[in-house]
Amino acid sequence: MILVTNNEGTLGVPTTARMLANGAGGLDAIEAGIRLIEADPSVRTVGRGGWPNILGEVELDACLMDGSSLRTGAVGALQGFLHPVSVAREIMRRLPHELLVGDGAARFAAEIGAETANNLIADSKRAWQAWFDAELTEEQKRAWPNVDLAPLCRHAIDPEVGRDTTVFLAHDASGAICSGTSTSGWGWKYPGRLGDSPIIGAGSYADTRYGAAACTGAGEMTIRCGTARAIVLYMKKGASVADAVYEAVDDMRALQGGLISRVTIHAIDASGNHKVAAVNGAGDNVYWLWEGQGEPRRCPAEPITITEGTARVSPTARYTARS
Ligand code: ASP
Repeated sequence: MILVTNNEGTLGVPTTARMLANGAGGLDAIEAGIRLIEADPSVRTVGRGGWPNILGEVELDACLMDGSSLRTGAVGALQGFLHPVSVAREIMRRLPHELLVGDGAARFAAEIGAETANNLIADSKRAWQAWFDAELTEEQKRAWPNVDLAPLCRHAIDPEVGRDTTVFLAHDASGAICSGTSTSGWGWKYPGRLGDSPIIGAGSYADTRYGAAACTGAGEMTIRCGTARAIVLYMKKGASVADAVYEAVDDMRALQGGLISRVTIHAIDASGNHKVAAVNGAGDNVYWLWEGQGEPRRCPAEPITITEGTARVSPTARYTARS
């Protein structure tokens, strides 16, 4: 058994590890751990207490993946509910779909009786109001919210460096591998912006045969690179978990333009190995590791710096582009 989660998983680690030790399935254990983080307003990047979008509304993203069936459940831009991860779980259970967003996701959450919540806590409201007061012109304030938001998106921020989405990867007692994520995404984001956390294959992916991966940080980067799926695929093609992560980091060197910032990659394989790499000085450079016995322990991630546009054709790529 193995459990890997990032620093934002701190509140959930003891519960998830205990459940796994007692033979719980990976999805149950991950969901239980993430729920604790979602409900705690002191974690400012997940669930209640998460930073709002540019309109001052908290929009939450989450997903779960069962690596044995390759079923997923994901929810994006969900407003007004406390546990997006559990809504994601119910999507997996009750629908023939994998991802619901926005109003449809909220409708489904209400339909299943999911717990409602006002996720915008007073401190977030204060911070958003301070931004509004300082950054908008008088004309924009009068017209609000009927103003062009795109120019204001230069303010989209990584609200607190070192504070992230939470990601969980688990290999349970039955041998199944699962993944889970939950986040409020980047603060001051454009309404409706999905990060990588609900995008299966970008922010997370699990396949019991090979392993799993999950990312935090600039979701725009991992969406463009299909990072989590790529890592599992590299392992399928024979790479070690560490080499698979390095290869995925190398993919990021091809990124040019857009949001290029920090990403932390977490990965496990099906044999109990793991790798966590912090790309571009990600503040989130510690993670939790529990290896089936004893207490979970904090470990440092490997720091890696990448430079924009320095991609080469990978020496491990079987096919190269024809000119
Ligand atoms: N990956 C998340 C997103 O892009 C944010 C984070 O982990 O900090 O929404």
